[in-house]
Order: sequence, then C-alpha cells, then structure tokens
Amino acid sequence: MKLLIAMMSHETNTFSPVPTPLTRFGNGAAPPEGDQALFEISGRALAMGGMLAVAQAAGAEIVTPIAAGAPPSGPVDDNAYEYICHLICEQAAGCDGVLLELHGAMVTETLEDGEGTLLTRLRQLYPDMPIGVALDMHANVYPAMVDNSTIITGFQTYPHIDMFQTGERAALALLAFMRGEIQPVTRWGNCPMLPHVMRQGTDDMPNKALQQRVAEMEAGEAVAVSLFTGFPHADIYNAGLSVVVTTDNNPALAEALRDELLEMAWAQRAAFVYQVTSLPDSVAAAETAANASGEGPVILLDHYDNTASGGTMDTTEVLREILRQGLEDVAVFAIYDPIAVAELIAVGVGQDATVDLGARFHLDALAQQSTPLTVSGQVRLISDGKFVVSGPMGTGSAINMGPTVVLDTGKVQIIVISRHFEPYDLGCFTSLGIDPLKKRFLMLKSRIHYRATFKPIAKELIECAGLGVCTSDYNQLKFGQVRRPIYPLDNINSDKLSQGFPQDN
Ligand SMILES: [Zn+2]
Repeated sequence: MKLLIAMMSHETNTFSPVPTPLTRFGNGAAPPEGDQALFEISGRALAMGGMLAVAQAAGAEIVTPIAAGAPPSGPVDDNAYEYICHLICEQAAGCDGVLLELHGAMVTETLEDGEGTLLTRLRQLYPDMPIGVALDMHANVYPAMVDNSTIITGFQTYPHIDMFQTGERAALALLAFMRGEIQPVTRWGNCPMLPHVMRQGTDDMPNKALQQRVAEMEAGEAVAVSLFTGFPHADIYNAGLSVVVTTDNNPALAEALRDELLEMAWAQRAAFVYQVTSLPDSVAAAETAANASGEGPVILLDHYDNTASGGTMDTTEVLREILRQGLEDVAVFAIYDPIAVAELIAVGVGQDATVDLGARFHLDALAQQSTPLTVSGQVRLISDGKFVVSGPMGTGSAINMGPTVVLDTGKVQIIVISRHFEPYDLGCFTSLGIDPLKKRFLMLKSRIHYRATFKPIAKELIECAGLGVCTSDYNQLKFGQVRRPIYPLDNINSDKLSQGFPQDN
C-alpha cells in the first residue's frame, strides 16, 4: 500500500495586507519536500503528524511531496499555490490513497476555495483515488471540498490541541474504507452565520457544548463529524459556520446529525457575537485586576491584531494606551517590525535607543490607520528568535521569530520581532530571558491560541479593542462577497433555519 501524505495549509484573511509567497509556507524558506517533509513533520502535533503515524503503523509506503503550512495572512500568491498543488497532483500517480492536511479557508489571488480546487484536480486526475482530508475548525467549507474527498475530519478544540488526533481520525477512516470495512456517505450544510472568532473557544459556551455533541456523535454511530465555526475575516461567499457528517452508508443518519448540529448552532447565534469594550476601560480594568489578590500576570489581549488570523502584528494602539496609563512591570509580545529590529541591533545590547515602532503596513481594509509609536529604552537582549515549542499546541515545532530584540522602557519590556508568530507558547518569553510568571502584566497579540499555555498561569484575562484587520467589530470591515443575509451582519430573526441551507451531495 502506497500513501501520499502532504500538507497545504493557510488561513487567508482577505482583509490582510500581509503577503503570502511560497517562503511563508516554509518558515522563511521554501517549504520542505520529500524526505525532508517526512523528517520535519513526523511526531509533531499536527494533523499530518497523525496521518504519518497511522500510515507507518499500517506498514504503508509513504510519499511526502510537500509540507507547506503558512501562518495566516492575505491571499496566497498564485505561483505558490500552483507550485504546491502541482507537486501533490504529480506525486499522487501510482498511490493507493491520499491523505492531506488542508486548512479549509485558503483563498488565493484568483481562487476563493483553494482546497476545493486542489481536490477537484486530484479527483479529475485519479477518479477512484481514496482521499482523506483533515481541516481546521476555521474552515469555510465549499461543495468542491466535500464532493471530491472520501472522508473529512476537523479539529474539535480551539485552541487546536487535537491536530494530531484529527489527522489520525482521517487516516484511520480512510484505511478502513480502503480495506472495504466502511462505505463513507457524507452530508454537509452551512448556517447563514459568521461566529466571531473571540467567541469560538471550546473552553466557553456555546462552542464547548457543540463540540461535545460532535464528539459524542463520532464516538457513536457516525464515522466522522465536524462542526466548523468558520473564519469570518474572509470576504468570500461561503464564509461561516458549517457541519460535515460522514456515516457508514447511512445518508438518513448523516442528514439527521447534520441538521441537529446546524439547528443547535443557529439557536446559539447571539452567543457567538462579540461585545466590544472601550480600550481605555479595558486597560484600566487590567490595573484594577493586578491590584486584587491572586497569583500570576494579568493578560491584556490585543486581539484585533492577531497574526494567526492575518494581523500585521504591528499596530500600536494597545501598547500606546498601556504606556499612557503608566502600567508597570509589563512584558509585550510582540511588535513585528524588522526595520526597528535592525536599528536596535545596530545600537547594541546595554545601550539606550529611541525608535519608531510599528505601523509599517497600510491597512487598506480599515478606515482608521495605526500610527508609529516613538519609544525610548534600553536594548536589553538581542536574539536569533529561535526556540522549540514545549507546550501542548504544536509540541516540538521549531519556531523562528527572526532577529529579535527586547527593548526595555523601565516599565515595559517590548519584544520586537522580524517574523510573525502568535504567542501560544511560553517559549516566546522564556527563550528571551523573560519569566512570564513573574510579570505583573503580559500584553499578547493573540485571540484564543494563547490560552493553551497562558490561561493556566494568568490571574485575569482582559480583552483589549485595539486596531487591526482581525477586528472583532464587523462594522469596521466592508463585506461585499459573503452570501447575504448572514447573521450578525444582517439581523435574521427566524428561529428555524430556512429550508435550503443544508446541502446534500
Ligand atoms: Zn484555526
């Protein structure tokens, strides 16, 4: 048995000005191919890692054309997309099955459904090929994804700490099909709703209950069940919440489970709406929280500028307000600004410097622009910005933040980086000699993934409405392509889903 196992993963924020060339898929270089891809992904807590483990345990011959995973940003360069797809399509020749870690929300310069187009090409080239796919919970599902794959599994946790298991489930189901043990039948559908990312965490209701029901169904009669909360910062027709259910040759059951989940989600649509607090009020609340009893840092979450949702990671508004209100003993992760990093490296460790930080990108999608922040401080540390993840999300991944500097104003230690990284692992501080447990405040440019390691150590979590292309205020964004009406852009009062939303295939 010969299996192709590959990764093509990108969550595209169509409002983001951050470019997505091929090198973004390889940590600053070309993404790994062949044996290098196998070596780099084996044992890692990624869906492709789970697929490899199952295939190896089954004694399969394994082909790994490419492992291309890029942090979220703007639409993918057409050339990069074509390069990745070509390798996968070409090397699937002679294989008995294909397993792909995709994201489900990839938009390219010319395609709004990158994954569906790849799967369609594979199906056209190899009409009988078993194809198993693992998708992110933030997938915006299109018919071509479902029509052209044999099995789809999705992450059931956010933060995504079940990536490996999601890959395993896709691989195990595909192998069962290849052995003739099951006959997968898939039904899917979507709701006209755009859940806010900040309300999608699976520690919280309503997604906690939804994903628990998903897991129950999968542990019961269904082969695979996924509820995709979707990625709303994508102005494309099918953005939003969807459900994909696969059963063993039982279409009626698949439809019933799908409809149950869609109705459950729809009934909770108001709970998926994020309520905004003013930035000065949030920063003041952080100071109040720090003065209360209890251990650990208060976390200020600059969630409008989360690089792992396509944020530029260089807006300055939350940091500016922290400085204005005079918070003390703060560590900030991070401002992305390679130009400032180079200037600070030239100044040297131990020296004082004044730099203009951030606001290098123009945010075309927003009316308001961030402005550079002039900061004076001492260059405390210069680093190559590399560390290995030890926390539960992406355990073992080699992180490259690029040349990195810690600039210390006395009250605030600002980490300035040259490559985008969402702080989901303590290593982003500890690798730079900062103990996050000992700080009074941490400012993080993150939305939900920080919870994997920072929530357990935090005294309190304060969400701060800054500025950025991951804004939780949909009024700041112009939606032109997404299907309408859609909640909460449009107020839909019906408690029952309209006929016609669920889709059969
Ligand atoms: Zn995700």
